[in-house]
Amino acid sequence: MKVFISVDMEGISGVVYPDQVVDTGWEYQEARQLYIGDANAAVEGALEAGADDVIVADMHGRGFHFPLDKLHPRARYLMGSGHWPRFPFLEGADAMFLVGYHALHGTPAAVGDHTMSSAHWQDLWINGRLMGEVGIDAAIAGHSGVPVMLLTGDDKVCAEARGLLGTIETAEVKQSVARHRALVLPPGRAQDLILERARRAVERIGEIEPLQIAGPVEVRLRYASTDLAERHPSDGDRVVREDGRTVLYRGDDVLEALRRALT
Ligand SMILES: [Zn+2]
Repeated sequence: MKVFISVDMEGISGVVYPDQVVDTGWEYQEARQLYIGDANAAVEGALEAGADDVIVADMHGRGFHFPLDKLHPRARYLMGSGHWPRFPFLEGADAMFLVGYHALHGTPAAVGDHTMSSAHWQDLWINGRLMGEVGIDAAIAGHSGVPVMLLTGDDKVCAEARGLLGTIETAEVKQSVARHRALVLPPGRAQDLILERARRAVERIGEIEPLQIAGPVEVRLRYASTDLAERHPSDGDRVVREDGRTVLYRGDDVLEALRRALT
């Protein structure tokens, strides 16, 4: 049984502050230990429930934050950055886990809320529905027939995931009260919770449908500024500049539309 785990940083146990999630931050070295800690708790839970092929993708920033001496010996790790495909090696997975995720841009009182890049993007809609990274990644997984079975992060992203995906397993490792403030569980306790939920998520494979979005698909992206939108000139068909900051990307399926928007 194969489990693909995508890991982001803002929703990791104990992470509340911007300084923790940038390589040059004073708190970064500690945060990357928490990052691998949460990821490995999910690995351990998946293995205990019978997974025998676990791939862990470092999806934060440039994708190189896992301390090499802490990699779980029974998992494999996708590290580094590259634009597309977003999830190489996803094919054939029985489940996807989203670990350390954060709420979509604009969510009130949610640690690190943003969609892909605070500096470049504001809002993204898939067929008219506002989506963040949970929706984007669940849709990519769903295109390959892979259901998201577990999400970990703060209370806001857990609620976002359940609203979009149904009764998946969630591990709420913090309760956010502002963009950079939260009531956090001690990391050890949070990781115990992640392990238990990961185990249950694997046991429940088959109960949750993949997020499948029928084509043709429209992805509408509002950039943070006009010059960012200008980098994506209209072709009048698949790429259409709708206003100063908004570009519409069309595809025959969700993967094609998202590839245009993300690359
Ligand atoms: Zn992110």
